[in-house]
Amino acid sequence: MKRVVVIGSGFAALSASCFLAAKGYEVKVLEKNSGPGGRARIMHHEGFTFDMGPSWYWMPDVFDRFFACFGKSVSDYYTLKRLNPSYRVFFGEGDYYDVPADWKQLASDFDKWEAGSGKKLEQFLADAEIKYREGIGNLVFKPGKSILEFANYRTIKGLFELNLLSDFKRHAASYFSHPKILKILEFPVLFLGATPEKTPALYSLMNYADIRLGTWFPMGGMHKIVEGMVKLASSLGVEFFYDQEVRKINIEPGGKATSVETASATFSADVVLSGADYAHTEQVLLEPQWRNYSKAYWDSRVMAPSSILYYCGYQGRVENLKHHNLFFDEDFTIHAREIYEQPAWPSRPLFYLSAPSLTDASLAPEGKENLFLLIPTAPGMLEDASITDRYFSFVADKVKRLSGNDLEQNSLFKIPYGARNFIADYHALRGNAYGLANTLMQTAILKPSMRSKKVKNLLFTGQLTVPGPGVPPALISGEVAAMEIIKDFPL
Ligand SMILES: Cc1cc2nc3c(=O)[nH]c(=O)nc-3n(C[C@H](O)[C@H](O)[C@H](O)COP(=O)(O)OP(=O)(O)OC[C@H]3O[C@@H](n4cnc5c(N)ncnc54)[C@H](O)[C@@H]3O)c2cc1C
Repeated sequence: MKRVVVIGSGFAALSASCFLAAKGYEVKVLEKNSGPGGRARIMHHEGFTFDMGPSWYWMPDVFDRFFACFGKSVSDYYTLKRLNPSYRVFFGEGDYYDVPADWKQLASDFDKWEAGSGKKLEQFLADAEIKYREGIGNLVFKPGKSILEFANYRTIKGLFELNLLSDFKRHAASYFSHPKILKILEFPVLFLGATPEKTPALYSLMNYADIRLGTWFPMGGMHKIVEGMVKLASSLGVEFFYDQEVRKINIEPGGKATSVETASATFSADVVLSGADYAHTEQVLLEPQWRNYSKAYWDSRVMAPSSILYYCGYQGRVENLKHHNLFFDEDFTIHAREIYEQPAWPSRPLFYLSAPSLTDASLAPEGKENLFLLIPTAPGMLEDASITDRYFSFVADKVKRLSGNDLEQNSLFKIPYGARNFIADYHALRGNAYGLANTLMQTAILKPSMRSKKVKNLLFTGQLTVPGPGVPPALISGEVAAMEIIKDFPL
């Protein structure tokens, strides 16, 4: 028996724990918060059930594959519903478009905006499918330790097909020119935490995920995935310890982690796997001589945005909104500059509103609506009440003008959540919401390493290492880290 202590209970940590326990390792998960899920925690308030973080269920094949690795299927844990339309995009007053689940309908609608663009969408998606199959089926499973991982025929051939050196903006513009089409195609890239100009064209694989694989919803909310994974992990023997904030990883001379300390206990370990934010693990839990990277390194990383969120209980049912709504009527170049280039509170932000109770009425009391609002902001910008009040007024005004729903008047409550909360709740570097931006210079082997270079039995998983931010990548990150442990520390 080998003892693995896992720090944190986000998706990456949960995934790794399942793979390790299934192989026979003794796995203990130490989580600082009082429940599992990390950024995907759940919050109950006045009869409403809020998913605190992720709300888009994309790449269903990744979840299917995860549960299949344990002889299970997604339906053993939750019921999925495909959304149609996938989401609504507001372009301006009286001007919106519902992205249909049927991609052929989307192609025919594109044709109405730009002649010939339906056929081009087919070609764009054929290219995106190659990238998806190579990227999600192959590249993301590389631990990112050495360039040699990419030196086999299949991957090299794949690399040429992936347009790694071109950027997404140019790639999309080589097919389309209509601004509405470009807004729809560029939106999924924003999940990756960088502008389309800074994101490799490889990530048109996200368009394949969006348009061909579809947007799904686990009935009961995204937290059903967390509950399913915790149930699976527990059945495999993983033990969970909540309200156990790790304060220190003890290292013996020569560079071997021996135990992990919380305020109330010491947990002995043969291997330590940190699923907590990487920078926090290094800068706070390790003494300086055992760190992979300096403070200057972390200061120079391009982080994905932080966000101002609102969990809002709405009196009555909303109209003219879908489950997912993107308010894209402002100029993204200005908002992007305020996030990435000259960090500032956004002057006129784009934002996202989700109303999951339109799909699953159990998420709100009868006759009421569960609303979640998200405004991307620059990492490191720390909000206060005057900021969150100001932005609530901004989004409420816009939601009223574009959809007719009066958030100011009908909100029973609105709970703001921002960078300060990300830091307090998850020790998030600069209050980031989604980890490290997926820029070219922070891809694959250029990401913070999954292996400690100085402590032989310490590894890292989660959204700040390979393969990157998002729930599906977190599941894969946990699997890859578990495979490294199984290979190097066999039972
Ligand atoms: C608002 C928001 C919306 C998002 N939307 C989507 C979406 O729609 N779709 C999607 O796919 N992705 C989305 N994401 C991204 C996705 O949620 C994350 O990439 C993913 O959940 C990260 O998982 P993780 O395991 O890497 O980290 P985390 O979930 O952050 O887990 C890390 C865990 O470590 C714990 N921890 C930290 N320090 C310590 C310590 N010292 N001791 C013990 N425990 C510690 C934390 O409490 C936390 O539980 C969203 C994220 C946010 C924040």
